[in-house]
Amino acid sequence: MSRVENVMPGVPRPLVERLAKQGYHFVGRYGMVKHCHWLHESLVTGGKKHCYKQAFYGVPSHRCVQFTPTPTCNLVCLYCWRIQPTDIGIVWREPASLDYDEPRELIRMVVEEHRRMLTGYWGNPKADKRMVAEAFRPIHITASLDGEPTLVGAERLSAMIDEAFRIGFKTFFLVTNGTMPEVLSNLDVEPSQLYISLSAPNERVHRLVQRPLIPGGWGKILESLKLLKTFKNPTVIRMTMVKPHNMVDPEGYARLIEMAEPTYVEVKAAMNLGGFNLRLRRENSPRHEDIKAFAEKIAELTSYNVIAESPPSRVVLLSRLKKPIRLI
Ligand code: SF4
Repeated sequence: MSRVENVMPGVPRPLVERLAKQGYHFVGRYGMVKHCHWLHESLVTGGKKHCYKQAFYGVPSHRCVQFTPTPTCNLVCLYCWRIQPTDIGIVWREPASLDYDEPRELIRMVVEEHRRMLTGYWGNPKADKRMVAEAFRPIHITASLDGEPTLVGAERLSAMIDEAFRIGFKTFFLVTNGTMPEVLSNLDVEPSQLYISLSAPNERVHRLVQRPLIPGGWGKILESLKLLKTFKNPTVIRMTMVKPHNMVDPEGYARLIEMAEPTYVEVKAAMNLGGFNLRLRRENSPRHEDIKAFAEKIAELTSYNVIAESPPSRVVLLSRLKKPIRLI
């Protein structure tokens, strides 16, 4: 029996096979988990290399879990790592909803699978064994990997956040494309940090770069941006930059940032990984200097200042704060 035979009912097998090839591990019916590049780097360098979340917010890369509760999305962004149906010549209308997993159980299964995937590090001579032991006790979890997490609805998402805190996670980051404001406004539990991806300064670029599968997607993103002020915990506008397509109209981005007033703006390069490489070229992934120059333009046009940067992750952080809040 193939490894993918019994997972993701209703999702075309060639897509599931590609996800498996990309290194995703399947959890429950529709969940997926994958170790981040930086978790590995951190473990094999004794923590010398780590991601920007550690540098900015104190989230240790080797104690971080990333997962997704659904492989589907209502956008098909040009730069997405996801293998999209059209990438492999499949005609499949991604359903608006699936028979999602029980949310609390999903979180527990995600952690179990994350730990199972770590076992190989005990035998890795380069891995720092004290850090490997810590990695088995993760303290940070992010709902963002592949697919749009808010598609599961407010009730399930709230239960996932609640369950993560209940079993000992200190922080939960939720990264959304912003097309489901009704989910964000109905969350019973706030994530520790809410990210909305803003990959366009206006509707024309949104259509070109994010290629919405739903009507009125841009209006929904604007609605979500307006909700940021209602969150008590820190919020982030994540600008995922793909050159030259959305590195335009800094004034448009500036207007949206000033309207939404997030705690932070992260200007970040879209990385040339996974499905990105089937749609774009390497040169579409901006260099750190490109990101920095664009972030500085945004700083000039807004009340936000550049307060930190991480060249290895190709990200620049802006805020009205003098320095980022350490969450852990
Ligand atoms: S919103 Fe995220 S998951 Fe959906 S297509 Fe865009 S990058 Fe991919």
